[in-house]
Amino acid sequence: MRDVPQLPSIDEARATLLAAVQPLTPTNLPVNDTLGLVLAEDVRAAHDVPSFANSAMDGFAVRAGQAGQRLRIAGESRAGAPYASTILDGEAVRISTGAALPAGADGVLQIELVQDDEDAVTLREAVAPGRNVRDAGTDLRAGATVLTSGTRIGPAELGIAIGAGRQGLLVAPRPRVAIVTTGDELVEAGAPLRPGQIHDSNGPTLAALAARAGAEVVGRGHAVDDPEATRAVIAEALDVADVLVLAGGVSVGPHDHVKRALADLGVDELLWRIALRPGKPTWLGHRGAQLVFGLPGNPVSAYVTFLLFARPALNALQGADATVPRTRAMLAVDVPRHPDRDECVRVRRRDDGSVEPTGPQASHVLSSLLGAEALAIVPRGEGDLPAGSEVTLEPV
Ligand code: AMP
Ligand code: MG
Repeated sequence: MRDVPQLPSIDEARATLLAAVQPLTPTNLPVNDTLGLVLAEDVRAAHDVPSFANSAMDGFAVRAGQAGQRLRIAGESRAGAPYASTILDGEAVRISTGAALPAGADGVLQIELVQDDEDAVTLREAVAPGRNVRDAGTDLRAGATVLTSGTRIGPAELGIAIGAGRQGLLVAPRPRVAIVTTGDELVEAGAPLRPGQIHDSNGPTLAALAARAGAEVVGRGHAVDDPEATRAVIAEALDVADVLVLAGGVSVGPHDHVKRALADLGVDELLWRIALRPGKPTWLGHRGAQLVFGLPGNPVSAYVTFLLFARPALNALQGADATVPRTRAMLAVDVPRHPDRDECVRVRRRDDGSVEPTGPQASHVLSSLLGAEALAIVPRGEGDLPAGSEVTLEPV
């Protein structure tokens, strides 16, 4: 049987969802506590970095001049302890990497290129002005914008912010995410399996995806397939979370209670069902600023729909670009198409840059996510999409 043709596409569903996102209110934090958070302000350099001309080498600071000169060692400029006076003709000052270039000096000759006899040095090479000198402002210019709002702070951004003179940064807080899995069949990791039982892999996996998207996982719950139990667990999660991610129980089976429970708790539906495989039964909704994701229970469906919908929403909540840039690649092999739904195919890259499926694509085959570098979006259509066709890649 064909699907209802008017289901929204991936991009339509995403647009509907992102229109409902209200970014979290930024907060000021010590810069050392901001790794992984998203900047909510532009950062300008408070001063030049480096703030003074300094040496790129261990050696001798001198006035520009010819090779062969013998110069008296007048003193030393160490990192953190500059030479106090001005270099005169006929003088050299011993200097360390990063130490301030003394007044009067034009350049530095590295230690390997001088002959050093205690109180005098002989230059083996000429020193042109600027040799081995790192001028002020060659990293950051005073007043220049060095980081922009919306940037996620990684190790390099942290270093730049500190170099720019900052002690605190205005950043988006981590969205508080609660994960709720549903199903009578689920047991905890490591528990022995009785007939019909499976390990709850979605809970930890979705929590990991949320953490990787910058969220703080504030709760993990499980609801058995019972209307009251489902409502109670969801209510508890909604008490503590900005974002609720549910797995399972959103289809049309007699034991799917999630949609009803959400309606009872005042969560409004944004949409239900998407022209997508895997992930058709996905339910998206909100209660005011709280976002709710009812993801299908099949592990690959939950994973893929998290990447396609929850990840951009978490980015948007943090004031970052919602979507990870997509790329394009050629299919290395024929790939079957679904007639009515766009399919996210787990692919790896070949050496020639083309992509091929990692393995079986059924929605319970989590092992095909191993080694998957992207989801190739194979548009709906009749028959195979032939090898050589270009497809869009959503990063995983
Ligand atoms: P549902 O969406 O509840 O109909 O579940 C669809 C399929 O996903 C069923 O085979 C479930 O057993 C499986 N499933 C549901 N939740 C989980 C979970 N947390 N971890 C692993 N598999 C799950
Ligand atoms: Mg279920």
